[in-house]
Amino acid sequence: MSSSSPEPVEHDPGTGGSRTQLVSVVSPVYCEEDGIEAFHARLVETLEHLDDGLSFEIIYVNDGSTDRSGALLRKLCVDEPRARLIDLSRNFGHQLAITAGVDHALGDAVVVIDSDLQDPPEVILEMVERWRAGSKVVYGVRTHRVGESRFKLLTARWFYRIINSLSDVQLPPDSGDFRLMDRAVVDVLCTMREENRYVRGMVAWIGFSQSSVEYERDPRHAGETKFTVRRMVRFASDAITSFSEKPLRMATQIGTTITLLALVVIVWVTVGQIVNPDDSVRGWPSLMAAVLFLGGVQLLCVGLLGAYIGRIYRESKGRPLYVVAEVVGTLDNQSGSP
Ligand code: UDP
Ligand code: MG
Repeated sequence: MSSSSPEPVEHDPGTGGSRTQLVSVVSPVYCEEDGIEAFHARLVETLEHLDDGLSFEIIYVNDGSTDRSGALLRKLCVDEPRARLIDLSRNFGHQLAITAGVDHALGDAVVVIDSDLQDPPEVILEMVERWRAGSKVVYGVRTHRVGESRFKLLTARWFYRIINSLSDVQLPPDSGDFRLMDRAVVDVLCTMREENRYVRGMVAWIGFSQSSVEYERDPRHAGETKFTVRRMVRFASDAITSFSEKPLRMATQIGTTITLLALVVIVWVTVGQIVNPDDSVRGWPSLMAAVLFLGGVQLLCVGLLGAYIGRIYRESKGRPLYVVAEVVGTLDNQSGSP
């Protein structure tokens, strides 16, 4: 592993088996004013049940909420010394909010959990057990998803199928970002600074021993999902373009096949002209079809190339992934963005 992390996380390398180990819980928050207090209470209550020899810290990332979430989190973090707030300067999106939280986590294990109570905090205890038994990554697998639209369930299922058929890294189906990662994994993740992030794919790419715990995904405690269809499409295209070059290869293959077909048609049309010179209007529909089809395929391939070039363009700017406006909390020994 390289040591070129832009912001080396301050971390006690461990002085033996008896040392208290720290579990960090990272939770991104975007406009969750109606549910955040309930989430916090349930999370703290759960984490109090961690075994002896384990302590915890909670890191909330306020992802530019426009409601009262920021103020509520600030108060929670003042009242609870084990909680910190990373206040981002604007909305950077779920994946970058997670990244900001993980960057600031100091724990020997880092758990990422949504703040809308869809991922039950109690599962964390099971994840920690698996981690202590030797797993470096423990991801949650959703057995049921209560209260989510059919559309979401269907798109989610197809999304994982398509991603896995396109990508070299296999993603466990039905797992989201609810997962525990060992410090070894987190350190590698912190060195991966790509801008179009698909965190669960990156964790799968890192490898190490992985195991899963099953859980039922509850309906949202309050509020609504922030993932509109547009955001879902963008997320899916980020996931595909960051983990697979197969679409590019497919574009070449489609291009080659169609070129060959076009050659056959050209020969056929030419021969037809020579054999039957008076019948020139007959070819018009097939000509139009070929022109339109080719035009469509070309535009598709150009768009596809554009998607990859756009990514290169964004990466080449080398901007920080997120901007931290403020850190609230006592463990505040890092600030600023990487
Ligand atoms: N979230 C975020 N930034 C965003 C959108 C969402 O930090 O731009 C948080 C949100 O507060 C929640 C989690 O990410 O804790 C998952 O979002 P959501 O519940 O809307 O997604 P879904 O569960 O419907 O996939
Ligand atoms: Mg949710």
